[in-house]
Amino acid sequence: MQIYKFGGASLKKADSLNNIIQIISAKDSLVIVVSAIDKTTNKLETLVDAAIKNDKSHIEVFNQIKAFHLEFARLAFGSEFSNYSAGLNKLLDSLKDISDFANADSYDQTYDEIVSYGELLSSYILSSYLKIKNRQNVLIDIRDIIITDSNFRDAKILWQESEHSVQKAFCAEKLYITQGFIGKDKSGKTTTLGREGSDYTASALAYLLDAESVTIWKDVPGIMNADPSWCDFAEKLECLSFREAIELAFYGAKVIHPKTIKPLENKNIPLYVKSFVDFNSKGTEVTKLDYKLDLIPVYILKSDQILISISPKDFSFIVEENISKIFGLFAKYKIKVNITQNSAISFSASIDGQNRNFDNLIADLNSEYYVRYNTGLQLVTIRYYTEESINKMTRNKNILVEQRSRTTARFVLQD
Ligand code: ASP
Ligand code: MG
Repeated sequence: MQIYKFGGASLKKADSLNNIIQIISAKDSLVIVVSAIDKTTNKLETLVDAAIKNDKSHIEVFNQIKAFHLEFARLAFGSEFSNYSAGLNKLLDSLKDISDFANADSYDQTYDEIVSYGELLSSYILSSYLKIKNRQNVLIDIRDIIITDSNFRDAKILWQESEHSVQKAFCAEKLYITQGFIGKDKSGKTTTLGREGSDYTASALAYLLDAESVTIWKDVPGIMNADPSWCDFAEKLECLSFREAIELAFYGAKVIHPKTIKPLENKNIPLYVKSFVDFNSKGTEVTKLDYKLDLIPVYILKSDQILISISPKDFSFIVEENISKIFGLFAKYKIKVNITQNSAISFSASIDGQNRNFDNLIADLNSEYYVRYNTGLQLVTIRYYTEESINKMTRNKNILVEQRSRTTARFVLQD
């Protein structure tokens, strides 16, 4: 069995579905994992925030999501639209119900319930489209199959609990369509695996099914040494080791979700990252390599960073006790730290901007620490850096944090 994952950018337009038909034309036995269409997940996040306000402002957002999906399906299904619209409307109606009665007290759970509809809608649309084009397929609700813990918005897969149901659900030589990113906890509540988590679903299924390979179809030619929308010198990396791919994902390379690689490495299942448009070209291969690759500099950008500087009001040193207190607060508010640095009496951490718990974190820190922060920064990581590559990235920028190891240089930069 092979696993293919199509992401939001590959499902941007109704026309894109035709590429999927071509990509899978020679396959009878395949699991396709899809994420939400285009930027739907962001829209659903807006819907969550509006819905919990309980002031009816969510209705407009819901209507936009509904209109977008109906229009997408209308274009994709053509004259067959009326045969498949009932299923789509059923999903949209239940999304509406959930948003109408959203509960602000359990934000994370409500988030997962609402945001999961991006994948429920896209998988229904793809499955229906393939049927219209005479590609019979089985649509599987992955929430009945992948069991997770109840850590809403960042749930962990419970491997043992999921193993049997995964093997049973995908046992035949068929074409299966299912959702990435979502699961269910033991009590039956919908969970999500963290933003961009569909890759992780694909690799978890590969692991549990002992799949031959996983292919992630993207709107770029493969894994690049920089995001092409950011750098005009970006070039494709032909191959990478699992280890190197884990490092790149850890530092924030958006092309693969950080949790994706480990299950594949454990079972030595190769990962291919390929172009959805130029689908016959080679892409990038990620496998087990016993030798070290001689890689060109790889640039990873995380924008919209906030650098927080924290110093104890009692001038105590930043050692074990303070560090564990500070990290305890980051964990409490589910805020991920991208880079840290400390001196005797000051600790700095860079985090992603736009976090709804940010003000609470700062308020909590303020009781024992002096806190300052800068917003709108860039965190740039360069693997296999050279002096030239560093100059290229830091020129005309103010360097707020700088760290270098033998292979990796990292900078927090201000324009
Ligand atoms: N649709 C989800 C997101 O945008 C999951 C994914 O794309 O992998 O975060
Ligand atoms: Mg996505």
